[in-house]
Order: sequence, then structure tokens, then C-alpha cells
Amino acid sequence: MKKKKCIICSEEFDGPGHNADPIDTGRCCAICNSQVVSPMRVKIFIEQFESSYKERRWYDKFLNDEDKER
Ligand SMILES: [Zn+2]
Repeated sequence: MKKKKCIICSEEFDGPGHNADPIDTGRCCAICNSQVVSPMRVKIFIEQFESSYKERRWYDKFLNDEDKER
């Protein structure tokens, strides 16, 4: 089987590898996938969750303020 080069650590690996997104565009090895790519995906997911939560809080506050004026 032809070896592929990891886009993150430049080590060669067997098999199809893993999608390196969002770290880089290309394929990475299993080690980088578990050590770098997966934690980054979790981090981005948490940041998106927190920002959407904050927007919701702001929206709820906006609605509550409007209720007081009535
Ligand atoms: Zn790697």
C-alpha cells in the first residue's frame, strides 16, 4: 500500500488517514487526528455552543425588557 504523508506532523502513515479539517486541508495520521484534530473540533463545538447560548440570553433579556414597558 502506498504511504501517505500526514499534513500536520509530516510522518508517513498507512491507510486512508483522517480528515485534518479544521487544522489543515488534507489528510492526517491517526495520532494527529486524536491529539490535535479531535480536541480542536470539540473546542470549536463548545465555542459555537457558548456563543449561541449567549445570543439566546441576550434575546431573552430583550424580550423581558420589552415586557416591563407594557
Ligand atoms: Zn500526524
